[in-house]
Amino acid sequence: MKRTVAGLLATFITCLAAVVAGAQTPGITITDNDALVDFPNAVTFSLTYEGEVPPADAELSFGVDKFSCVELQSQIPVAVDPVTNTLAWQWVMIRSGNPPPGTDVWWEWTLTDVDGNTMTTPRQTVTLTDDRFEWQTVSAESIDLHWYRGDDVGPLLLDAAVAAQARLENEMGITLQDDVDLWIYGDSGDMRNAVLYIQDWAGGVAFSEYNTILIGVPPNIAQDWGVRTVAHELAHLVTGQFGRSCVGGSRPTWLEEGLASYAEGEPDEETTLELQNALENDSFTPLRSLNGSFPAHGGAAGAAYSQSYSVVDYLLDTYGQAQLATLIATLATGESYDDALTAVYGFNIDGLETEWRSAIGAAPRTIPPTPTPVAAIAIPTIPPISAAQSVPTPSVYPTYEIAPIQSTGDGLGDLYRPLAQLTLLVCCGVMLLLLVAALWLALRHARRKQERANEQ
Ligand SMILES: [Zn+2]
Repeated sequence: MKRTVAGLLATFITCLAAVVAGAQTPGITITDNDALVDFPNAVTFSLTYEGEVPPADAELSFGVDKFSCVELQSQIPVAVDPVTNTLAWQWVMIRSGNPPPGTDVWWEWTLTDVDGNTMTTPRQTVTLTDDRFEWQTVSAESIDLHWYRGDDVGPLLLDAAVAAQARLENEMGITLQDDVDLWIYGDSGDMRNAVLYIQDWAGGVAFSEYNTILIGVPPNIAQDWGVRTVAHELAHLVTGQFGRSCVGGSRPTWLEEGLASYAEGEPDEETTLELQNALENDSFTPLRSLNGSFPAHGGAAGAAYSQSYSVVDYLLDTYGQAQLATLIATLATGESYDDALTAVYGFNIDGLETEWRSAIGAAPRTIPPTPTPVAAIAIPTIPPISAAQSVPTPSVYPTYEIAPIQSTGDGLGDLYRPLAQLTLLVCCGVMLLLLVAALWLALRHARRKQERANEQ
């Protein structure tokens, strides 16, 4: 809320400045400078001016308000149409992927006349609003939560977010660095329509660089699934802020998911049962193999989350929150997982597994003496610079994600993969046709030769 007011004020001041600046510029007067949002597809920037001589060149600069290790902005040359006195350019997001709702986009125009004199319009800001719905907002100190379906859903989930933030801060030593926005859609379908590139099973997604979380929460499962998922995704976001790295540092998946599961609160019945089963059947996964991706589906995925919860629970219970915070900070410096653990706790991943197994009463496991080292940089959990970083959560109960940590990048890979498959298919088809034609020609040739031989 605070940010919305600040944003409005900033926009008002820049508008005022634009009018003043426009009036002072010799030759050209800006009469309209606007950005029209068609969420989530496009933003159309347009500038109308009056003047005897149109500008020789025009350039649009724009960027989005998000965390980035380097300053990112786009500069687009825009053709000048001397007849209409209007400049326009459309940012079509199907090419780049779209920022989440609530993101501020700034822009400015630079016009150059034939003599090389330039003028730049004052920077203006527009907020990407998902106006398909009538949003309501409830706020806590550092969290704004927006929702539109189910009267009790907003306050209920805000309480869940505040409780998770307190747990992160007081019991885990992980503090929030920037204000967070949660957009609670009425169901996962509505949510998926707000994101151009998203898996069709996703029920929630965290945009860590934008400090924004989107979750589809039908009111009838808000109390259980909604509350746990809000806590889980908030933990990913806050841990992501706390452990931000511009040097390629990352966290192993067991730590990332273990922290998020721990932030949900006391383990649910399913987690407790999975841990009991794994203990009875001695079926825990070697911890080192949970550094990277988790199993995609079913029981194995659930077991991986439960085990990760148990390991983080052990680390916190035995060594405390300050050590854990130091581990996250050390991993952010780009240390390998083994080196970071050794520096903070004095054991590597295998040593941790041995201690943890002993603490929960599992039989000792023989660990190969020379494990392949896994460099932190090899498995980017939170990529340092990218477009929207997504941590999707499936739309179905229970809480864990099917694909826990992955970067969506700009989604272009997804766009081109079907195209590549189609091209391959067409190529194969053409090859087959050519082969059949060649065979037919060869047969015909042989038959004619035979006929000619017979005639002779
Ligand atoms: Zn997760």
